[in-house]
Amino acid sequence: MKRRLFTPGPTTVPDRVLLKMAEPIIHHRSEEFGRMFATVNEGLKYLFQTKNEVLTLTTSGTGALEAAVVNLLSRGDRALVVRGGKFGERWGELCETYGVHVTAIDVPWGEAVAPEAILEHLKADPVIKAVFTTQSETSTGALNDIEAIGRVVRETDALLVVDAITGIGAHRMLPDAWGVDAVVTGSQKGLMLPPGLAFIALSERAWQAVERSDLPKYYLDLMKAKKSLAKDQNPYTPAVSLLVGLKAALAMIREEGIENIWARHAKNAEATRAAVRAMGLGIFAKNPSNVLTIVQLPAKIDGKKLVKALDGYGFTVAGGQAQLSGKVIRISHLGYTDDFDTLSLSAGLERALRELGWDVEPGVGLSAAQRVLAG
Ligand SMILES: *Cc1c(COP(=O)(O)O)cnc(C)c1O
Repeated sequence: MKRRLFTPGPTTVPDRVLLKMAEPIIHHRSEEFGRMFATVNEGLKYLFQTKNEVLTLTTSGTGALEAAVVNLLSRGDRALVVRGGKFGERWGELCETYGVHVTAIDVPWGEAVAPEAILEHLKADPVIKAVFTTQSETSTGALNDIEAIGRVVRETDALLVVDAITGIGAHRMLPDAWGVDAVVTGSQKGLMLPPGLAFIALSERAWQAVERSDLPKYYLDLMKAKKSLAKDQNPYTPAVSLLVGLKAALAMIREEGIENIWARHAKNAEATRAAVRAMGLGIFAKNPSNVLTIVQLPAKIDGKKLVKALDGYGFTVAGGQAQLSGKVIRISHLGYTDDFDTLSLSAGLERALRELGWDVEPGVGLSAAQRVLAG
């Protein structure tokens, strides 16, 4: 059976990238590596739409979230954390692990944070050092407006730190223009790579905070990573094969163009939402991200059974996390996804729903998706 991957990490890895990763390993202190890594770093700046350096860490995405906390903050600092999903909560857990005092804004799951709420908190507590938020909250499918958040945080001295682990490569993200001080992504999301790399870019203001930071760190010390980067190297042995794959993935991103990539994600997400509604199901998020569609299921459809039924047709989708477990399914549009992936998923979803006894006329979802994509 042919397998089709529709999870918001990991995502499908293109053949062009897979073949590169199969090449014989090169030494990470060789000139050949340095040339390859220099090209990768230029490509990362393009992907991140930043003039600042993008640092590559050999960790999953969470490693770069942790790097942001331990490099920007100091003992006893105060942080404002936007929760409202598993990944927003993770920012809070990371801060608390290192003794940072957290003030949380609890946003109902599926909703975006109101930028004014962030400003109110910052005004009420001007010692808050940094605001931690998420661009696309992968557990709820909600999109936060980072540009608007940047505008209010800029009225204060606080740093703005964004988990864009699924946002980057799917949604417009202009960290320099929007005043984002630290932005993070990971390899197995929009970058079309296997898991194992994480990336973080810091603003000049953020680098000043790094110099003052006294939280404990060794492997995740970004100052060391920055010094090595100036020599096109990593402080420790990096995941060389993943970096070789990354070079190919970044070349594909440049060939397509970042604006076109954002537009492709928007179209596939819109088509999927249309298909889902035509099948009589709902969309969980109020302000849905184009990274993934979280399908709100009626009480008579068990989300876990639906994931299993789709698996029977070769489709891997994600179930709901925490309080959404069994109530939704999560369908990714992230990375190497085109019109025909979206159409096949719509067709597969119809069949799986019918198998579970949901009365959906064959072709209604598929046709709604096709109208968006071909229209
Ligand atoms: C996947 C994801 C993470 C976690 O990344 P890992 O690679 O699993 O550590 C964090 N934040 C968001 C928004 C994600 O989608």
